[in-house]
Amino acid sequence: MSDKVLYQCPVCGLHYESEETAKECEAYCTQHNGCSLDITKLSVERSEANKKE
Ligand SMILES: [Zn+2]
Repeated sequence: MSDKVLYQCPVCGLHYESEETAKECEAYCTQHNGCSLDITKLSVERSEANKKE
């Protein structure tokens, strides 16, 4: 069971374990109208895709 608190970027909807990263993502998404790969690779969605389980 995981009761980890996740932070969502309201712009792209990806989730992050770190509030700081979610804020970075939101700032980037808002400014650039798109995501930074360096940031989205830290998202929960990405790391779950990497696990492949
Ligand atoms: Zn975002």
